[in-house]
Parts: sequence; structure tokens; C-alpha cells
Amino acid sequence: MFNLDTLLRDNIKRLVPYSTARDEFKGEAAIFLDANENSFGSPLPVNYNRYPDPLQWKIKYKLADIKGVPPQNIFIGNGSDEAIDLLYRAFCNPGVDNVVLCPPTYGMYEVSAHINDAVIRKVSLTPDFQLDIPALQQAIDEHTKLIFVCSPNNPTGNSIRKSDIELLLNNFNGIVVVDEAYINFARQKTFIQELTEYPNLVVLQTLSKAWGLAALRVGMAFAGEDIINVLNKVKPPYNISQATQELVLQALDNVGRVNEWIREIVIERDLLSAALEQLPQILEVYPSDANFVLVRTSDAKGIYQYLTTQGIVVRDRSRVELCMGCLRITVGTPEENLRLLEVLKSFNLKTEIPVSA
Ligand SMILES: *Cc1c(COP(=O)(O)O)cnc(C)c1O
Repeated sequence: MFNLDTLLRDNIKRLVPYSTARDEFKGEAAIFLDANENSFGSPLPVNYNRYPDPLQWKIKYKLADIKGVPPQNIFIGNGSDEAIDLLYRAFCNPGVDNVVLCPPTYGMYEVSAHINDAVIRKVSLTPDFQLDIPALQQAIDEHTKLIFVCSPNNPTGNSIRKSDIELLLNNFNGIVVVDEAYINFARQKTFIQELTEYPNLVVLQTLSKAWGLAALRVGMAFAGEDIINVLNKVKPPYNISQATQELVLQALDNVGRVNEWIREIVIERDLLSAALEQLPQILEVYPSDANFVLVRTSDAKGIYQYLTTQGIVVRDRSRVELCMGCLRITVGTPEENLRLLEVLKSFNLKTEIPVSA
């Protein structure tokens, strides 16, 4: 049985969270002399002299509308990376508890585990980049607190089979973190509608990808209210700045524009994938449910270097397990994608020159 209390670290269970000035007084007042702010204002055209809402309720109400989940089931972090870090801090006793990771996957799960001294158990994906369920069953023990499943997965681009994630949710008594950073580009449906089914589910999403707000650093965790309360208790009190909160509120009014971009990016992704398949130095184009494509090449290092000389940067993933020879290419604008293809074609010409020499 899933039991949040036995899963939590004792120090977190006992933790009395910091109580902000705004937590202690919630009414209307004309004069605020409770938080040692500068009552005169800010040296800017707009005032930022008051501390922001620690729980970002205005954003949560808008997100609740867009996502179809109650605001109490939403946590907002300084990027999803903050939520990843908080999950380790809340659940993994350093040096004792372990996390199960499924490489090749997003690098922050491992870095954040190291920072928090969580023990890492790796269970590689199968050659078709799906979960290795029997190996996962072997890896899990009574000290396993978290399993990260990235779907669609970075850097492979595919979605993880829904039935496999459900199998974990139904049989693992720790927390299953489903990272949906790329869900907007996927055919598969989000897990956030299933929070009521699974008390051990945490879904991560972000405003950094489809929403085009990577520089603002805003990520979301969706979970049962008990888990959300734990994250709120452990986070720094004012983790999202007032300026960021105001910009996010404006951005969330433009969901139509974002949906339009998503449609365009998906069309471009499929065009780019088809065009890449035609190039002789691209040995394989992996099917993508994200806004990038993973390609296996004949010479990852050479192509990467050549692209940089032409002012194009892609991600070299060739040293990552199961990704030998692979580059990860983000879908750009139509002009950027055409330029990429043109440059890749000229690399092919370049490699053919020695044949005649
Ligand atoms: C980009 C990405 C994120 C986003 O991280 P932020 O901190 O929200 O910018 C999360 N997970 C995966 C798998 C990603 O690729």
C-alpha cells in the first residue's frame, strides 16, 4: 500500500515550514509594516518592493482552467528542475534511499540525485526505448522512493507505453514521476487527468518548451494534494518572482497562439524527419513525439563539427548509452530546418571528395 508518511524522510515529516509575513496576515490593509520591505517603492518604472505570493494562486487558477485539474493539485517551481530537486530532498534519505532511472534519459535526474546523495539504480531502456519491466522489478527494493519516467523521452523522442507506466503506478509503492516536458507535441495523452486514480503519481510539465518561456524558469508538478503540500513545505518561500508571475499570467492568456505553434512544430518535425531520412549519412531517424528528432549518423562527431562551422548547433548524444552515433536535433523554424538540411547535404558532398582523390 502507498503510504506518504512512511515514504517521507523523518526530518521532512517533522518540519515546521517557514511562516512568511504574508502567511500570518491575510486580510486587507492600507499600511504594510510587517515584512521589512522598502515602503517608498523600487528604483524602476514599476514597483517590485512587495514580496510576491509564495503559492502563486493566480497562476494556479489559470493553469487549472487550461489543464483541467484543481489548483490545489498544482505546484509551481523555478523550472521543473526545482520540483525534481525537491522530490529527492523530501523523500530520499542521503546515502540510504534509492531512485530508479531509465537511461538514456534527461540528465538532471542523475545530477540532482548526486547533489542529494540519493543512491542511483539504473535500468536501461530496451533497444526500442521502452521500459524494461522485468529489470525494473528486480531493481526496486524497500529503499526505492522514486522512479523517473520521461515520456516523451529526452533524448530519444518516443513516448513510453501507457500500459507500462500504469503497471508501475499500480505495483510500486514509492512515487512514480512522469516527466511530460514534451507532452504538447505527443500523440499520447497526459497523465494529469489520472491523479485521482494514483496517489503515488507526480506529473512534471514545464513552460520551457512548447510555451516558449525557458528563460522565465517555470515548471509545474501535478499530484495529489498531500504530495503538493510536501513540495510547498520544502521549497524556498518565494521561489517565483513577482516579475515572472506577472509575465506568466500574461502568457497564459495566449494559449491559442501556443497551440498554433504546436501544430506548426509537429508539421515541421514530420517534414524534417522525412527529409533527414533521404540523406545517406543519416542511418536512422527515430520516430518522435517531441519537438526534436534523434538521428543515428555515420559520423556524429564529424557532422557535429561541420554544422558548427556553418553556425548550426545540435546536441551530440553519441556518447550516451543506446545512442551511439546519435545527434539530437531540435525542430526549428521552416527557414532554419531548410538551412540545416542544405548544410547536411553539403557535408555529404564533402565526404565524397576523397573518393575521387
Ligand atoms: C527541458 C526539460 C525539462 C524542463 O526543465 P525546466 O527546468 O522546466 O526548464 C524537464 N524535463 C525534461 C525531460 C526536459 O527535456
